[in-house]
Amino acid sequence: MASTTSVKDSAAGSNVYDCPICIGGEWRASAGRRETLLNPATAKPITTVPYCTVEEVRAAVDAAQAAFESWRQVPVVERAQLFFRYRELLVKHSEEVARLCTLEHGKTLEESRASVARGIEAVEFSTSVPSLLMGDTVGDISRGVDTVTVRQPIGVCVGIPPFNFPAMVPMWMYPMAIACGNTFVMKPSERVPRTVVRLIELLYEAGLPRGACNVVHGAKDVVDALLADPRVKAVSFVGSSPVARSIYETAGARGKRVQAMGGAKNHLVIMPRCDLAAAVKAVMGAAYGCTGQRCLATSVVVAVGEAADPLIEELKKAAEQIAVGPGDSPKTGMGPVVNASAQHRIERYIAEGEKEGARLVADGRGARAHDGSHGYYVGPTIFDHVRPEMRIAREEIFGPVLCVIRAKDLDEAVGVVNRSEFGNAASIFTGSGAEGREFAARAQAGMVGVNVGVPAPSAFFPFAGWKGSFYGDLHALGRDAVQFYTETKVVTSRWPTPAREHKITF
Ligand code: NAD
Repeated sequence: MASTTSVKDSAAGSNVYDCPICIGGEWRASAGRRETLLNPATAKPITTVPYCTVEEVRAAVDAAQAAFESWRQVPVVERAQLFFRYRELLVKHSEEVARLCTLEHGKTLEESRASVARGIEAVEFSTSVPSLLMGDTVGDISRGVDTVTVRQPIGVCVGIPPFNFPAMVPMWMYPMAIACGNTFVMKPSERVPRTVVRLIELLYEAGLPRGACNVVHGAKDVVDALLADPRVKAVSFVGSSPVARSIYETAGARGKRVQAMGGAKNHLVIMPRCDLAAAVKAVMGAAYGCTGQRCLATSVVVAVGEAADPLIEELKKAAEQIAVGPGDSPKTGMGPVVNASAQHRIERYIAEGEKEGARLVADGRGARAHDGSHGYYVGPTIFDHVRPEMRIAREEIFGPVLCVIRAKDLDEAVGVVNRSEFGNAASIFTGSGAEGREFAARAQAGMVGVNVGVPAPSAFFPFAGWKGSFYGDLHALGRDAVQFYTETKVVTSRWPTPAREHKITF
């Protein structure tokens, strides 16, 4: 069931793609108001996104609820087979999906391709659902009595992803939820809504029954309407911490299951006895990949002892090599940020860092695209001599701004990491196994890397942070996702059997 709305990338504005909604497997135009989205690389219109009405949100939940009764009864092996077909379609269309990510978000094509591949990995994991749903059994737990656990779907689930991974983060949500027998309502980020539309079109092409996945667009009002509906049983949220916390509190108070992944301020500790060239390469990727707009971005380097001076020198040289420009140009090393307001927020933080007394080693303000495009560009920025109490060290900037804090030893570095209000990821570069082990044991973060810049686990492991980076219990992906999207039932049965003598003689 493909969307009927025309797909045109015209810069003229009159022919821009109007994002459709999907209710009960039918794609149609929303009756809600529209906003025009601009290509971050060129500031030209690419899409109009609707803000759905309350009636449309209700209709999406109606459709998901109606589909649930039959979808839950489809044998789990058939549900898994659907995801095998979906995986094949995604691989076939992966370049198209990656290009949509770059168009909407701005990241380089290489980054989009990598993130689509990680999303496909989550779909591959969902094909294992028959094994993942296996429960425990004890036969004859008492005479003639057997006890088994079964995992059953919970009903209508909702996904609320952020803008920064238009394909991958949504794919943490609906594939496993639907594979477990639930039905779904997706509310993509209003800043990158098109990629999800294409992903769900392909899911229907793979054979999903009507209504098992619905798509509505909008922001807070639409989320509020979804949270107010008692038929919504679980909410998967990924976004900034204040919103994560508020969704966790609101949905939790209404008895819904919630996993709410929030923001981050990730630290990478560089020890003097490490492979400096490898560390610099890792820092550049971790700080400036996706233009710093990712929850696993390294935004603070803690340079220990004599590591600091050579590190700063090498980072500055490497930052000067990065060509800023449109994500679809092969010459581009770093794409634009998502929109004008993100650009202004990041530039304000750079000014704030100067005011706070940090030393600006590389200033990304006023960066120009290598091809003269007029988009939302901020170049790689480095601050040295940052102190942990400064705002640039504490708050999530979500852009290509790297702060370097100097520490005298590992103990002080771990203190800096652990005093952060966030706890998404933390890494160390070291030549010492003992230092690596100590760091992994002491760092208060959900994902830890040793000689790894971005410690993103694969889809087979759970993904989430600690402290202010996560509100909930069960993480995304891995076995946590299976538990999140199912309820456990314990069935105890007695079938009287002919009396047998149970005598044990010693
Ligand atoms: P955001 O919080 O502004 O928006 C996220 C989603 O929530 C969007 O779908 C948006 O429409 C909705 N939303 C926004 N305000 C809302 C409100 N008041 N009430 C209800 N819903 C609301 O986040 P963003 O700017 O799109 O994404 C960037 C953030 O996401 C960063 O903080 C980043 O660290 C975080 N993030 C976290 C992870 C993780 O795994 N922890 C992964 C990716 C991104």
